[in-house]
Amino acid sequence: MESTDTSFQDLHWLLDVIQSTDVGIVVLDRDFNIEIFNRFMQVHGDISPEDAIGINVFSLFPELEKSWFERRINSVFDLGISVYTTWQEREHIFDFKLELPIHHDQKLMYQNSTFIPLRNARDEVERVALVIYDVTDSAINSIKLEQAKDELLLLSRTDRLTNLWNRGYWEERMIDEFLRNKRTKTNAALVMLDIDHFKNINDTYGHQVGDDSIREVSRLIKENSRAIDICGRYGGEEFTVLLPGTDLDGAKYFCERLRKAIEENEVRSGGDTVSFTVSLGICMWDERLSYPTDWLVSADKALYKSKGFGRNQTQVFGES
Ligand code: GH3
Ligand code: MG
Ligand code: MG
Repeated sequence: MESTDTSFQDLHWLLDVIQSTDVGIVVLDRDFNIEIFNRFMQVHGDISPEDAIGINVFSLFPELEKSWFERRINSVFDLGISVYTTWQEREHIFDFKLELPIHHDQKLMYQNSTFIPLRNARDEVERVALVIYDVTDSAINSIKLEQAKDELLLLSRTDRLTNLWNRGYWEERMIDEFLRNKRTKTNAALVMLDIDHFKNINDTYGHQVGDDSIREVSRLIKENSRAIDICGRYGGEEFTVLLPGTDLDGAKYFCERLRKAIEENEVRSGGDTVSFTVSLGICMWDERLSYPTDWLVSADKALYKSKGFGRNQTQVFGES
């Protein structure tokens, strides 16, 4: 009799441990009915034990993704081994709401989980224990870290004055595009443009007006290009635009539309109203281009042809 008492008491404090531990514990039978439902689950699920024990887990938690959950549990029953799921695979198994102010922008608890087979005396898996870990803090930290990395990467690639790609990143994209075209042999145009007589703007109106003019050109480039076009500030008042999948007619159309938009635009800055023009050069991608820099240098040559012919125009490399 004494030994029965002892094992009963053992069981009692074991249950106490299960109840008060800081992870969620649910034990399910073959039919997905709940046999154990600890305090963590009660508190976060706002469910009393009377409402949980003996109840089918899917009727108690309609948010459970049934087919996924069934597959998980059945594989534990069939294979008799534990399986582990992380929040990266599945952010939350149970929709437990968080009300702590430090998680103000996170409504649900991030969870890792383990599904553990429980065997009877005949060594058959008769139940599955589900252990739920609250990993909200580390999940949020790791998400924030990823976001910070993304923001830093974007910052390192962006020109601060204009928000266009900076020279370094634009050149990387140009090399990618060049190599891709070597394989696919599709059309692509490289456009280079430069503000005409920009020194006059700086000298007459000052650097602030000069900066605003550079910003305005960037805005018009963005406004006149497609999402897949790659727009960069190459240097002071010099810009580069890659037009993937664009033929010569398309490139000329783009350049002329942009040129006119800039010509017609008035920049208002510090009480002054300034107008100016740009010169543009196009180089179409061609198999005979050996290196990415050839593409750029050729577009630059076309641009300087535009300057030589009187500015405010577009010239194409290789066209007379
Ligand atoms: P051109 O028609 O031949 O291009 O004449 P230009 O006067 O524009 O000549 P150039 O391209 O050589 O002059 C560029 C000037 O742009 C020189 C530099 O002082 C000015 N500049 C370069 N970067 C900036 C900038 O970020 N802000 C301002 N305000 N000016 C800049
Ligand atoms: Mg210039
Ligand atoms: Mg220049």
